[in-house]
Amino acid sequence: VNTEYKNFPMVPRVVFGRGSFDQLGAILMPRRKHSEAPFIFLVDDVFENTELAKRIPLIFNDQIIFISAEEEPKTTQVDVLVDKIKAEFGELPSGIVGIGGGTLLDLAKAVAILLTNNGSSSDYQGWDLVHKPAVFHAGIPTISGTGAEVSRTTVLLGPEKKLGINSDHTTFDQVLLDPDLTQGVSKEQWFYTGMDCYIHCIESLTGTYLNAFSQSYGEKALELCKEVYLGSLSPEESRDKLMMASWHGGMSIAYSQVGVAHAMSYGLGYLLGVKHGIGNCLVFQHLEEFYPEGVALFHEMRQKHDIALPQGVCANLSDADFETMISVAMNMVPLWENALGKNWRETITPEKLRSIYEKI
Ligand code: NAD
Ligand code: ZN
Repeated sequence: VNTEYKNFPMVPRVVFGRGSFDQLGAILMPRRKHSEAPFIFLVDDVFENTELAKRIPLIFNDQIIFISAEEEPKTTQVDVLVDKIKAEFGELPSGIVGIGGGTLLDLAKAVAILLTNNGSSSDYQGWDLVHKPAVFHAGIPTISGTGAEVSRTTVLLGPEKKLGINSDHTTFDQVLLDPDLTQGVSKEQWFYTGMDCYIHCIESLTGTYLNAFSQSYGEKALELCKEVYLGSLSPEESRDKLMMASWHGGMSIAYSQVGVAHAMSYGLGYLLGVKHGIGNCLVFQHLEEFYPEGVALFHEMRQKHDIALPQGVCANLSDADFETMISVAMNMVPLWENALGKNWRETITPEKLRSIYEKI
């Protein structure tokens, strides 16, 4: 019996609606400390020179920093950004606004934390190591699926590990959900990032940590994913619903955990830099043993949208490479416990994981 229940923060304010991005200026106004304390907008560089960039409500000495999402966020990258902001402005910013996918949302959370907490972001990778509140931070997703907009973590690739800064101070103070912002996403990326949400649902709903809280969000998110990927919605409805699926999927894992695909995808990400969404898909397609119904439906969705996953990703790896991935994956103990229970080591051996990686 669980004797101590975690007391999780949630996003205290959220706006939802097509075109709601134009309210951003008014939403940030009361958060401005004074004219010398800027808002810093960390924006995915796909938006450089676009209409969206022009709509960012800059005043005083506010600044936009465009950042590539080509690679997932790194602790060194966070530290450089924090030093740059500290050097450039005499005052702490009024706030940080992340505009983009999981990559930019996670960067925004991490930068906001490190502006008020000393040292390197790698010092805070883990659970509840952050003690001082971050500066105000807002998240504006432009692609749906990760749930980074609701979660209390920011996943960073550090010198030794890929691990989140999980803390009560990580969660955004404000989220703005404008489904119109996701219009430019390519079909492939829409699928990979959306499948992150789908896989969150499957891993949460079939896990041993499941409880009514997680289930209520997970079932809703799964229903929405099915409508989006197997139904016949209009493009507008589809964008609306995937944005809410991401939200619910993120809420579902707040009080449970992810599972096998995520554990193994971390190995791929760490060794090969394979990104989260596609990495999850690469692993998940071979997990019929663990998630038979979930994997069957995944293939149905993949076929319907004519998505060809890369092949031979692990074809030329050395024994040492496989060992690295296996060790990263096996270290994700809570994920395995959620997926398979306390005795997970009876099923999950290095040989077992290698046989799955070899198929990828
Ligand atoms: P992403 O942020 O890496 O973006 C994927 C691609 O889509 C990029 O090329 C980006 O430029 C492009 N893109 C984004 N919005 C676009 C738009 N509107 N139009 C055109 N292109 C657009 O992808 P993601 O899958 O959202 O995020 C992955 C990251 O999220 C990983 O770093 C992962 O670790 C992290 N993550 C975090 C959490 C969390 O709870 N904090 C959960 C899951 C994943
Ligand atoms: Zn995920």
